[in-house]
Amino acid sequence: MKHVSNDYLKELITEYRPYTTKGEVMADLPCLDNQNQNDLGIAMIDMDNQIYKAGSTDLSFSLQSVSKIISLMVALQDLGEEKVFQTVGMEPMGDFFNTISHLESNDVHRPYNPMVNAGAIAICSLIKGDSVQERFERIMSMLKTITNNENISYDNSVYQAEKRKGDRNRALAYYMSSTGAVALDPEEALDLYFRINSISFTVEDLARVGLFIANGGKLLNDNEQLISDKHLQTLQAIMMTSGMYNESGNFAVKVGFPCKSGVSGSIVSVVPGRYGIGVIGPAINEKGNSVGGGKILERLSSDLNLNLFSHS
Ligand code: GLN
Repeated sequence: MKHVSNDYLKELITEYRPYTTKGEVMADLPCLDNQNQNDLGIAMIDMDNQIYKAGSTDLSFSLQSVSKIISLMVALQDLGEEKVFQTVGMEPMGDFFNTISHLESNDVHRPYNPMVNAGAIAICSLIKGDSVQERFERIMSMLKTITNNENISYDNSVYQAEKRKGDRNRALAYYMSSTGAVALDPEEALDLYFRINSISFTVEDLARVGLFIANGGKLLNDNEQLISDKHLQTLQAIMMTSGMYNESGNFAVKVGFPCKSGVSGSIVSVVPGRYGIGVIGPAINEKGNSVGGGKILERLSSDLNLNLFSHS
């Protein structure tokens, strides 16, 4: 079996960089179309807090849909599972991440799960706080703690672009409000959703989030339970079944540990009790997932025997 080292990760980056030409940088959001198609980077942190990195490790990118696991984590901690899953379902969708049709076609008009846009907007309406600003600050403060990075902030130009180009998300929020299936103030829920999509991260920040989940909701060397382990079990199950949208089955089979992607080309991965992993590769496929990033995770899984279903 291979061992993780910076050199090993560097080899993977070199080997899989050509795959970045097989995807495209997201063109829908003006703030993303200036990303570099050939960027590819990875950070991996183990339970001894040893960090391994290679490739575009200084690159800062917006969280986009990776924020959906953060909002779900905070909502579960705020309200508990019963209330959260009265608002959104926990079933995989098998359709594009911002589809509206599933809201109309299912009996209850509720989003299928918290990892698709409608679900994440509904989750944003649940997070506690007297104002959008206060809710956002609660999320930021949680993220700063988890990543051990006081400098985490959001990118205002991404936030403005999310708002400007947000009609599809507005349609989802207003549709849910119109049926009454989700009791939400559409503008407030959207504002929080747009803001958390705009949070800037590096691959190391992503890996720290993965590590926190891999460590059952505690920081390394600290006994304080910041998020309940039970909620993180639920979160990981949902990442496994829906975190990569309608490519989640493929990732479950080929990678075999929970992942969550964003259209900036980022992916956060959790190998329970072993690693937190962050990758960035802005060239994404038609499902919205990083092409090079996905390939690297697949390879890591087999080289390091990380598949949760492996018995060897
Ligand atoms: N900001 C994007 C949206 O709301 C995020 C989508 C994604 O990363 N899949 O559509």
